[in-house]
Amino acid sequence: MPSCELCGKETDSVKKAKIEGAVLRVCESCASIGEDLSQKSTRKKKKKRRTPKKRGSDEVLIPKYGEKLKEARESDQLSIKEVANDLNEKESLISKIEKQELKPDKTLAKKLSDKFNITLYTNPEVSDYGAQDRGNQKKATLGDVADID
Ligand SMILES: [Zn+2]
Repeated sequence: MPSCELCGKETDSVKKAKIEGAVLRVCESCASIGEDLSQKSTRKKKKKRRTPKKRGSDEVLIPKYGEKLKEARESDQLSIKEVANDLNEKESLISKIEKQELKPDKTLAKKLSDKFNITLYTNPEVSDYGAQDRGNQKKATLGDVADID
């Protein structure tokens, strides 16, 4: 008979449970202490931080702006150099942005966004990751504000 990894009690219904970050095979009563993995449906336990809505809130750089840029560039089959030349920027600058060592300012971000048709700056209210990103194909945000120069 397997025994509970937490209390040592023998049980024939061991359950996988996450207890203090570790996944253990435990008995029923111990399982109730932790998160029962077997019936876990909601993966995200992160607290959603509701940022207070500001009127006309500033746009923010998306968290994975570097990745996004790189992806877009690669799908266009352009080298960093070509992009840099095209935008009249330094190669090293573009490269740093891709590695997220440097944040593009809005002017540059706009150039990149226009070139690759991507969104680098976005409104915090719609950048809530996950749910809204899928399905919701609206790309209105950048276009609407991109004219501010
Ligand atoms: Zn136990």
